Amino acid sequence: MALTCEVCGSQIKTAPSSVEIDGAILRVCQSCSKRGRPVTVQPRIQRGPAPHLMPRGEAEPELVVDPEYTQIVRQAREKLGLTQEALGRMINVKSSVISHVESGTMKPDMVLARTLMHFLKVNLLVSASDLEPEAR
Ligand SMILES: [Zn+2]
Repeated sequence: MALTCEVCGSQIKTAPSSVEIDGAILRVCQSCSKRGRPVTVQPRIQRGPAPHLMPRGEAEPELVVDPEYTQIVRQAREKLGLTQEALGRMINVKSSVISHVESGTMKPDMVLARTLMHFLKVNLLVSASDLEPEAR
């Protein structure tokens, strides 16, 4: 699409220039550009990405289930000499739940994670911010 000069109406064949004529900024051809004051059209200032909304160390860290939970649960259970069935009975879940957790097919929710932590004397919760460098 051809650009036309906003002053003389002729087609602008070269790079259009913007000039200020009587306070109005017009896109003009090269010959008309001499009639006004050249202006540099600034691109709209882009705001950078918003600064991190949650500064580290201020809010209570969000806890998530340790990605290593499968090994932690299995090792702790075996250390206690418990079968999956026995552990399941202790914490009142089906042995299949323990099996799923240990195989990684089921990620324990916070309640189950805390229960397992209590009975297995292990830590299954880590601060979400500690995992960020690996997760991103
Ligand atoms: Zn012109």
